[in-house]
Amino acid sequence: PSLVNEDNLSAVLHKKGDLRLENRPIPEPRDDEVLIRMAVVGICGSDVSFWTKGNIGDFVVKAPMVLGHESSGTVVKVGQKVKHLQPGDRVAIEPGVPCRYCEHCKSGRYNLCPDVDFCATPPSHGNLCRYYTHAADFCFKLPDHVSLEEGALCEPLSVALQACRRAQVSLGHTVLVCGAGPIGLVNLMVARAMGASKILLTDISASRLEVAKELGADQVLLVEPGVEMSQYATEVATLLGGAPDISIECSGAESSIKLAILATVSGGTVVLVGLGPAEVKVPIVNAATREVDIRGVWRYANCYPTALAMIASGSVDVSKLVTHRYALQDALLAYERARTGAGGAIKILISCD
Ligand code: NAD
Ligand code: ZN
Repeated sequence: PSLVNEDNLSAVLHKKGDLRLENRPIPEPRDDEVLIRMAVVGICGSDVSFWTKGNIGDFVVKAPMVLGHESSGTVVKVGQKVKHLQPGDRVAIEPGVPCRYCEHCKSGRYNLCPDVDFCATPPSHGNLCRYYTHAADFCFKLPDHVSLEEGALCEPLSVALQACRRAQVSLGHTVLVCGAGPIGLVNLMVARAMGASKILLTDISASRLEVAKELGADQVLLVEPGVEMSQYATEVATLLGGAPDISIECSGAESSIKLAILATVSGGTVVLVGLGPAEVKVPIVNAATREVDIRGVWRYANCYPTALAMIASGSVDVSKLVTHRYALQDALLAYERARTGAGGAIKILISCD
């Protein structure tokens, strides 16, 4: 089919604070790529940060960049070498394509590849647009009963899967999740699916904790300024009937990382998902002398197939995270809502067709 007369409306971030809808050429897939008619793209905190601040750490927007990386779509054309997909297939798009040649790629931890090409991380374009090409082997066919919205939500779901795998969540574990944003909430779902028996979420926002309760948190704890984290650690243990085996930090706040360490049972594990200031002060001797393991989490590797299987089997219902939906033409309004969080926004999805 000829696509030349179609538009490729795209949400392009020119520089800090300057997000525009523009028409761009429809790309041609290379031999190992597919051309995708984009369907659903979620907004992530990182997209909003690039828009409002122009950077995240060392990643700086220096040239116009299409935003968006939590996405799904329908294959419309396949490159010569593509065997496992055909036009009409609906796919979840794993946004980070690694080099495939380095030690990390070869060992399977491709999320650590220094040369990853990740959607909407400068200088790579994202896919909040109508047509987009992607490495075919990083596109995962959706089972018939899995929606395109759920396909897009495989991205944050994969972050949680990576975190819970790194934390080795297992049957009967008690888990503390610090921060009840989309990432904390999806960790709640995955920790539950992996067998956690009791899960407590913290936040500084009472409304986010309401959502956590609706999504099945056993306990919630509102963190207020001026209270010692050691006091909250005691409170967490009281609420859970013992110190948590695992803490999953999903806010990046210094005090919250401190709480995660102090609250975790001796011999337990803290995983750091939240990314806040580059350097923070934490009770490291407390962790050392109680053999509390602190593990990093960076995106995900080999999680998409499992994320899809979890959605398909009903072991998680990520659609519950969606609070708002917009059309691509209204992407600026969607971003504005993501920035302010107005109306209790959790996950905002943009429809591209
Ligand atoms: P978000 O900002 O929507 O959610 C963070 C939540 O933490 C908010 O509800 C906020 O009220 C709460 N919070 C802030 N300070 C707190 C404190 N002191 N104690 C408890 N809660 C507190 O962000 P999100 O989209 O849910 O992402 C969460 C974090 O995960 C971000 O830092 C993000 O950068 C990070 N992240 C990391 C990876 C990774 O690969 N490591 C991937 C995705 C997101
Ligand atoms: Zn690599």
